[in-house]
Amino acid sequence: MDIIDEIFGLFAQYGDLGYGEDVNQREHALQAAHFAREAGEPDMLVAAALLHDVGQFLNEAGDAAEREGRDARHEMGGAALLARHFPEAVVAPIRLHVAAKRYLCAIDPAYHDGLSTASRLSLRLQGGPFTPEEAEAFIRQPHAGEALRLRRYDDLGKRRDLAVLGLEAHRALLESVRL
Ligand code: FE
Repeated sequence: MDIIDEIFGLFAQYGDLGYGEDVNQREHALQAAHFAREAGEPDMLVAAALLHDVGQFLNEAGDAAEREGRDARHEMGGAALLARHFPEAVVAPIRLHVAAKRYLCAIDPAYHDGLSTASRLSLRLQGGPFTPEEAEAFIRQPHAGEALRLRRYDDLGKRRDLAVLGLEAHRALLESVRL
């Protein structure tokens, strides 16, 4: 199946699932893409923002934290699905967006305090803030900067009432960045 149809199918099937915040998964993804675009990000990072949590739709990863108290590593599942179809500039920020949170919590206590309740819960399951050594290793990686920016749009995409473009409006963007 075409990857973009496959992605839209996943949103159709799982997009109504709660994000553990005031929004569902579909709204969260669309809002993250909205904030990336509003910030003037290149299409690659807007696409990354839209797709960053696609791994939540695979293997019931989205339910793992709440139901079983485990981290299903949704960033890795999502990146693995997308890696065959999208360039590293899209996939790497997705793969690194959880690490970006652990990094920001390590270097900025105010960032940690500003996280939503669900995000703080998942942080614990994800290993907590990085040690100074881990933070150093993280920031040296290619696309670490984009991952930190993606993280900002991820954190913003939790508004209860925000009018944003629908999923179909992003098809052309995804087509333009795919391999
Ligand atoms: Fe997210």
